Amino acid sequence: MKVFVDRDLCYGSAECAHRAPAVFDFVDGFGVVRPGHEETGEDPSVLEAIEKCPSQAISITDTPPPAPAPGQP
Ligand code: SF4
Repeated sequence: MKVFVDRDLCYGSAECAHRAPAVFDFVDGFGVVRPGHEETGEDPSVLEAIEKCPSQAISITDTPPPAPAPGQP
């Protein structure tokens, strides 16, 4: 399972980086998955970050979300 942050939904509360700092970072006002930490294995701290994310921007899935359209971040 891989963890993703939907930047379109994230509004920058930094809750994920607070709850699971080994997996998430807070960069330029957005939560991001730290490089090399995409595979979560459903880590309890990641599940907590998902639960506490106020915008439901974090997901774990086997299937990556669609790439943003050209010209979108
Ligand atoms: S907890 Fe959610 S809204 Fe807050 S920074 Fe992380 S992904 Fe964004």
